[in-house]
Amino acid sequence: MKNLLKPKLFIAVTIITFLSYSCDNDDDNEIINEASSVISLQEEEGLLFMLEEEKLARDTYNYLYNVWGSNVFNNIKSSEQTHMNTVSNLLDQNNISYTILPEGQFEDESLQLLFNQFVEDGQVSVLSAYNIGALIEDLDISDLEEFINETNNEDIVIAYNLLECGSRNHLRSYVTNITDNDGQYLPQFLSLEDFNDIINGSHENCNQ
Ligand code: MN
Ligand code: MN
Repeated sequence: MKNLLKPKLFIAVTIITFLSYSCDNDDDNEIINEASSVISLQEEEGLLFMLEEEKLARDTYNYLYNVWGSNVFNNIKSSEQTHMNTVSNLLDQNNISYTILPEGQFEDESLQLLFNQFVEDGQVSVLSAYNIGALIEDLDISDLEEFINETNNEDIVIAYNLLECGSRNHLRSYVTNITDNDGQYLPQFLSLEDFNDIINGSHENCNQ
């Protein structure tokens, strides 16, 4: 299960370089390499994957809201759209092209399989729908942690930290709803220790 959900490596199609050539007035011509803004292919693949994982959250919550009418899905769905915008803004800034497929459709096969499963399981009961919410946030936080550990790009780290902060709040909301419905959620991706730390924490203000 874990391997299936791991971000897939895409085939390198283009390598984008961010070399800026500048003529210095005082000295001879000098090439300035704006190394801090270079996004590696691995980071690019990470951003494209996270864009679709945020879309998985948005599309699933929209579906679950339509089935159950529970406001938590509607509120968090809006937050997922904000997360998608955060990632797509970063992609735009770095001239990386991307496609956002129609609702319920995903380029990444593992995300498509998850969505299909959520549509099926989400109809069973509202408790099962809340469990799907917690599972998505559990996966999201653990993937974001992995990508944060693999990058030194400050803009990406800031964006991922913002998404992760939102996900911790979302996880708390879903787990509260699960508990209120006499259910229990056990983490599938996060360690029990990390999960408990989040659940025992208070709501965070993620908008700086
Ligand atoms: Mn999110
Ligand atoms: Mn979320």
